[in-house]
Amino acid sequence: MTARREQIPSHISARRALGRGERVLPGLWRLRLPLPWPGVPHCNAWAIAAGSGFVLVDTGMHEPGSIAQLERAMEQVNLRMDRVRLVAVTHAHTDHWGQAAPICETAGCELWMHPNHEHATRVADDPSAALAQRLEIGRQSGVPEAALQRYGERFPSGIPSGIAHVIEPDRPLVDGVEIETGLGTWKVYETPGHAPSHVCLFQPERRLLISGDHVLGRISLYYDYGWTPDPVGEFLSSLDVVDRLDARLGLSGHGKPFVDVHGHIEGSRALVRRRLETAATAVRGEPRTALEIAPSIHDQPLTERNASWLLSETLCYLQHLEREGRVSRKPDGDAARWRAA
Ligand SMILES: [Zn+2]
Ligand SMILES: [Zn+2]
Repeated sequence: MTARREQIPSHISARRALGRGERVLPGLWRLRLPLPWPGVPHCNAWAIAAGSGFVLVDTGMHEPGSIAQLERAMEQVNLRMDRVRLVAVTHAHTDHWGQAAPICETAGCELWMHPNHEHATRVADDPSAALAQRLEIGRQSGVPEAALQRYGERFPSGIPSGIAHVIEPDRPLVDGVEIETGLGTWKVYETPGHAPSHVCLFQPERRLLISGDHVLGRISLYYDYGWTPDPVGEFLSSLDVVDRLDARLGLSGHGKPFVDVHGHIEGSRALVRRRLETAATAVRGEPRTALEIAPSIHDQPLTERNASWLLSETLCYLQHLEREGRVSRKPDGDAARWRAA
């Protein structure tokens, strides 16, 4: 049976890297897929041999040509889309889950994902809701209304989701679930923080950790704001969870496989602590908004491009400090002003 082939549009293939497949170990492949985001040029999907086919962990985001990019990466290591036996997703961010629907439909396989995926699925079919969510974060952070309006005008039809379409997971990927592969059984560990739906997969005999965006080769922090009471606290607890596994090789959602998994976990902890302390220090004098303190936490100025990420992260630190009783907030219009408690 010949599957319908999608082409990579020439304006994309000329501008960007192409999908690439490489073998990491016998029976385990990295599929490196291009992303349209400045500063984050690729994401990884992982293929693990299983019976006559393979388990695919993560999918890349969906946009014109993205299925062709995935097929190209697969072909380089002699894999085929119709041999996917299961799609398992580390978390419901666009770049890890966007193509789940078309892959499952082509391969006739199941999707397994953590049930707390509302942070992604609620806005996946509604670009204007995704934009409204970002503007609300800006408002709470103290961004002036004129700047918010200018930002909104950049996305007249909302923020495209990068999700082909939403399909419900066939099985909830929660603690204790096991995934059988040719490399042995992988165990699921819930690791919320980066996203409420985040899980890591661990193969204990080989000590392999598929870490999604929870632990990356290059330390980078991100939290979904507004879905759970304390993403930073959840993230720190989740770091303890994976540290106890004593993994030998980290296979993350972006970048190359890395050893010294413990060192990377320790690096993430240290960066979180440093940013928490910077936030606590920044509100010792006059009450300040997240907008006012975000640049000092991140050591870089806010721009329209990075504002949504950095303000969400800043609000999460303040929320964590508030739960620890170290800061308090008082409303100022739609925004909050924060001060040392
Ligand atoms: Zn992510
Ligand atoms: Zn990612």
